[in-house]
Amino acid sequence: MEKDCTFCNILNGEIPTKLLFENETLIVFRDINPIAPTHLLVVPKKHIRSINDLTVDDNRIVSEIITTARDMAQKMGIAKSGYKLFFNVEKGGGQVIFHLHLHLVGGWK
Ligand code: 5GP
Ligand code: ZN
Repeated sequence: MEKDCTFCNILNGEIPTKLLFENETLIVFRDINPIAPTHLLVVPKKHIRSINDLTVDDNRIVSEIITTARDMAQKMGIAKSGYKLFFNVEKGGGQVIFHLHLHLVGGWK
C-alpha cells in the first residue's frame, strides 16, 4: 500500500468505489472518466508502479489480470462485439495513476 496512491486508496476503502469484481489478487471497477460505453479498470491488489516494474514473480498476477478482463467483457455483454485491452506505461505512454492497471474498453454501437 502506498499512502498517496489513488488505487491503493480505493483498495483500502478511503476512496469509496463500487467494485464489480474482487478476489484475493485484484479488483475491477468502472473508470471515473470513461472513454467508451464500457470502460473498466482491472487493478492488482499488489502496488506495482507500471509494466516496467514487473518481475517474474508477478507473472501469475498479470495472467490473472488478463483472464479476468476477458471474463468481465463476457459479463458486460461485449465479448462478442469486441473490445480493447491496454496498459499505459509511464508518463509518455499516458499513465497518470502509477499503480498497474489494465483498461478494458468496448460497447460501441
Ligand atoms: P492511466 O492514464 O493511468 O492509464 O489511467 C488512469 C485511469 O484512472 C483514468 O482513465 C482515470 O479516469 C481513472 N481514475 C482516476 N482516478 C479515479 C478514481 O478515483 N476512481 C475511478 N473509478 N477511476 C479513476
Ligand atoms: Zn497503489
